[in-house]
Amino acid sequence: MLPDVRILVVEDERSLAAALQRGLRAEGFAVDLSEDGLDGLARARTGDYDAVVLDVMLPGQSGYRVVQALRAEGSWVPVLMLTAKDGEHDEADALDVGADDYLTKPFSFVVLVARLRALLRRGAPQRPAVLTAGDLSLDPARRRVVRSGVEVELTAREFSLLEYLLRRSGEVVSKSELLAHVWDAHLDVDLNLVEVYVGYLRRKVDVPFGRSSLQTVRGAGYRLVPEG
Ligand code: CA
Repeated sequence: MLPDVRILVVEDERSLAAALQRGLRAEGFAVDLSEDGLDGLARARTGDYDAVVLDVMLPGQSGYRVVQALRAEGSWVPVLMLTAKDGEHDEADALDVGADDYLTKPFSFVVLVARLRALLRRGAPQRPAVLTAGDLSLDPARRRVVRSGVEVELTAREFSLLEYLLRRSGEVVSKSELLAHVWDAHLDVDLNLVEVYVGYLRRKVDVPFGRSSLQTVRGAGYRLVPEG
């Protein structure tokens, strides 16, 4: 059992919310429900939760706005977003706005629990707002990337990719892992796309600064190493 691990579920689809509450309680978590974005934000702000499961489409305020508000206020509670393929938003938008992970509906409860446990293990309430590796820094709340004192303009996708690599700084991250976290694992996206985007990133954060912090680890993936 997991005493004192409190999860906030913000979901307006009642049957799904109830199923999540039931299931997560059975897994030993303490679970509170909120059906509305504004109420969810108010609750998440209290700091009483170890993680938040947050739907995107909510009455009051969207899940994107909720997580943006939390991050802007310096709250780094782990957030797992539940996204829908509504054609309007890209699933990776969730990561762009500051969520730690996302699942696309419909999802498997087993997968949700596994992802949640991973976030809780990683969970660092004192997580630094700004991620750095050498003279490269990324501020998720302000959406700024700076290298060697110079601000670098990135597209949303490039930003997500760099953020993920920075969070795993020094580790080898496989293409499929990047695809799953920065794109959507369920989409039929070519692995080569990762390579293309790593190339874009290099041309923005490495080449102009004479650095080579985005390393290719042959047959394994990529590694971001601190330089400068
Ligand atoms: Ca909803």
